[in-house]
Amino acid sequence: MSLCDHSPAYIRALSAYQPGKPITQLSRELGIPVDNIIKLASNENPLGMSPKARAAVERELGTLERYPDDFELKSALAERHGLPRECIVLGNGSNDVLDLLARVFLAPGTSAVFSQHAFAVYPLASRSAGAELIAVPARDFGHDLDAMLAAIRPDTRVVWIANPNNPTGTFLAADELVGFLEKVPANVAVVIDEAYNDYLPPAERIDSTAWLARFPNLVVCRTFSKIYGLAGLRIGYGLADAGVADLMNRVRQPFNCNNLALAAAVAALGDDEFLAKSYAVNVAGIEQISAGLTRLGRRFIPAHGNFITFHVGDAAAVNERLLRQGVIVRPIAGYGMPEWLRVTIGLERDNARFLEALAQALS
Ligand SMILES: *Cc1c(COP(=O)(O)O)cnc(C)c1O
Repeated sequence: MSLCDHSPAYIRALSAYQPGKPITQLSRELGIPVDNIIKLASNENPLGMSPKARAAVERELGTLERYPDDFELKSALAERHGLPRECIVLGNGSNDVLDLLARVFLAPGTSAVFSQHAFAVYPLASRSAGAELIAVPARDFGHDLDAMLAAIRPDTRVVWIANPNNPTGTFLAADELVGFLEKVPANVAVVIDEAYNDYLPPAERIDSTAWLARFPNLVVCRTFSKIYGLAGLRIGYGLADAGVADLMNRVRQPFNCNNLALAAAVAALGDDEFLAKSYAVNVAGIEQISAGLTRLGRRFIPAHGNFITFHVGDAAAVNERLLRQGVIVRPIAGYGMPEWLRVTIGLERDNARFLEALAQALS
């Protein structure tokens, strides 16, 4: 037996996360100059990062010989959410927070419930911890909370919910989630991953953090990767009952968030102008792409985040034709949707170029 054969069977059965194709990779593969490529594949902010965050990163460059201090960001988040610092766990991206949760609650002999077509990191984190995964069929491409409730077994320790969901863009309203939380046994953690929360219209935006006092088994995850434009710095956080947060901090690597990310996040939190602009660009882009897809006779799932998932039929072939035109979108066959593609909302000219390339690819 080789060394690798001694790795637990549940580790050997994993497949690595498939990220959106980087611009540089497509350039290498097809010889297209990087300037002629647009990437609308990873739900990144097309406006870049907040200018205030950029300035903070530049200031922070002088401190890189020091280990990070997370005091300021935790204080800012505590104030923002009206929670004690003890309820906050910082992560190297919110994916790190999801992984901490899996390590705290899951192990061989336990199970985790998630929805068909939900974010790929839930099965990955659950299986890495040796737990069994219970995939619940989706309803209208979104979470079927009644079915998820019914799927909970005595050995279930975590229920994963993405709201809005990636890659389908579906959304659960506050009252549906509260109804669900009221019925889930108290010994099952309910993780609500709100990576796209700030893209919701203000009236629909959920303040789920206000539910934490009532439901100590609730964990809310947020990220700086999407509307805050800091995907490359890797920073996100979880909000949880202080006891849960304490367990997560025990398995967390001591310095999982670096100086630049911490400083940028503090500055980005306070950059309301950048957030408002990012939100407005997204609203306009959703209209532009939805209208374009309708003109092309494509079915799509109404957007609640910064991306739209649309039906093309042979998605692998259409994707290949888009790539040859220098347009990178996201195939989602790995999410059980081999006939669909997901496009991130970009700037007006990139959205227009995507729609032209799609018309070409479909003709
Ligand atoms: C993008 C995304 C995240 C954020 O991941 P980071 O690790 O914070 O970059 C989390 N959850 C979902 C559903 C996402 O789509």
